[in-house]
Amino acid sequence: MPSPHPYLVGLVGTGVGPSLTPALHMAEGRAHGLDYVYRTLDLDALGLPPGRVGDLLQWARTLGYDALNITHPCKQLVLEHLDDIEDTARELGAVNTVLFRDGKAFGHNTDITGFAHGFGEGLPGADTGRVVLLGAGGAGTAVAAALLRLGAGHLTVVDLDPDRATALAADLAARHPLAHIDASSFDKLAVLLPEADGVVHATPTGMAQHPGIAFDPALLHPRMWVADIVYRPLDTALLRAARQAGCRTLDGGHMAVHQAVDAFALITGISPDAGRMSAHFRKLVG
Ligand code: NAD
Repeated sequence: MPSPHPYLVGLVGTGVGPSLTPALHMAEGRAHGLDYVYRTLDLDALGLPPGRVGDLLQWARTLGYDALNITHPCKQLVLEHLDDIEDTARELGAVNTVLFRDGKAFGHNTDITGFAHGFGEGLPGADTGRVVLLGAGGAGTAVAAALLRLGAGHLTVVDLDPDRATALAADLAARHPLAHIDASSFDKLAVLLPEADGVVHATPTGMAQHPGIAFDPALLHPRMWVADIVYRPLDTALLRAARQAGCRTLDGGHMAVHQAVDAFALITGISPDAGRMSAHFRKLVG
């Protein structure tokens, strides 16, 4: 029987060609009996500067796309081209999923929900009383919002660029008056980590092209959990060091899969099988 609605979805960003997200969505769509096509729309390949993301949105809508995922460097640039934005995504000022419905464009952020759901899945019951977030870039900003949604009591943001950390902490503190949110410098990690219940690593260090660990792993201790959002590779040097130190760990695959799980649910209205998508993702990365 033909699918009631053939889905057409795209991923907009630079260098999105090797993304695993299209394969994840399409396999899950097939498993639900859907006609589901997911294409990458690489700005570099299209010869478009990021500032033309509004044009791309308009073309996609005209060509019958149901939705777009938006990634670097357009998550902020896309905001002004949307008709409505889900509250947390608006507060954060970043959108990674756009739904086209009834001639309008609606923005969501499944990086936030994806980290939160992945955290609950991979580190159930983990204490979020005192958390250090390393990396205040695009991904770190979404992770910070997720940590606060998860009930983080004291969140300290650290970045090599201290102004970035300070700006993110100030922005979050203004919106979350009940939480204690501050910024600190890289050289204070020796004081911060021994006191922390957990640390989230959200810098590019540890990716295949940026090997290494962003901080001294001797600062890890068995009372803390360690979450890495780098997922290529899944088993980073940080996670190996953390396991050796006796920490509970969470790899970046959880966030990557759950941002796709949540986007698929928004686009289709169908709850995907997160376990199946995770197994597929791990096979693709592995
Ligand atoms: P970004 O360039 O926007 O931000 C990175 C930040 O890290 C910058 O503010 C930079 O100053 C800081 N930084 C770099 N090295 C540092 C160090 N040694 N110590 C402290 N701060 C440091 O990058 P991004 O988009 O936020 O991505 C960061 C990482 O997250 C990448 O590896 C990316 O692949 C990964 N990521 C994972 C997911 C997922 O779903 N798991 C989603 C998005 C991004």
